[in-house]
Amino acid sequence: SKEIKVALVTGGNRGIGYELVKQLAMKNFKVILSSRNPETGHKAAQNLKESNLDVSHVVMDVDNQESIHQAAVEINEQYGRLDVLINNAGVYLEGSKKLVAMDHSILERTMTTNFFGAYHVIRSFIPLMEKQGYGRIINVSSEYGAMSEMSYSGEGAYKLSKLALNGLTRLIAAEIKGDIKINAVDPGWVSSDMGGPSAPRTPRQAAESILWLATVGPEGPNGEFFRDGKQISW
Ligand code: NDP
Repeated sequence: SKEIKVALVTGGNRGIGYELVKQLAMKNFKVILSSRNPETGHKAAQNLKESNLDVSHVVMDVDNQESIHQAAVEINEQYGRLDVLINNAGVYLEGSKKLVAMDHSILERTMTTNFFGAYHVIRSFIPLMEKQGYGRIINVSSEYGAMSEMSYSGEGAYKLSKLALNGLTRLIAAEIKGDIKINAVDPGWVSSDMGGPSAPRTPRQAAESILWLATVGPEGPNGEFFRDGKQISW
């Protein structure tokens, strides 16, 4: 359709999120770059606007339900619709200590952002999608969240948070009605603050490998897990 579609990305101020915002805008979406930090988010959106991209900024800390609610109210008032939601915000906090030896606050904080963050954002924005009977939700997950990864120790908090995010993807997929799709993606090992400088993929390649899911048609996948456009195992 000729309608201008609206997309929202969490953690859009840097890394993969910033590239997702940029590429969505280049595909003619009206993009809302959200960030927990007002300054870095504003600056990132400003940079993209200077290249004539249709990007605006909203503050949203996914650890904070009130902040998510505020963002949802703002977006509802300003746009009245949401077509694409990308849950990209994430943290990687641990060193390589055993799960049972680590400070439990590491596990709690990781689950708060990577799992509950996505959960609360979905809860707050799905009504807008249900109202219009259309929506594409993408959860930026990781192959570290695959069940097979649970056989190896290390990165326990991060792995559990992505395993839970994957489960959430399937459960929401089973609940939603109408032309709304939710899928999880592994972007590969990506050079960013989280991925480190020696990662083989650029954020640009990662964003490309994610964004095809933003425009799949009504026959497209729902409740599946992908890397580079190919379905992978949970
Ligand atoms: P970065 O560390 O570069 O960026 C993380 C982004 O998430 C930042 O914008 C950060 O904001 C934001 N963020 C963190 N916590 C919150 C919060 N509470 N509320 C809002 N935003 C928050 O990571 P990447 O770009 O590499 O990662 C993006 C996603 O991709 C993550 O979900 C990650 O798990 C996943 N991923 C990354 C891989 C990689 O190799 N890089 C591999 C597999 C998956 P701020 O600047 O304020 O900290």
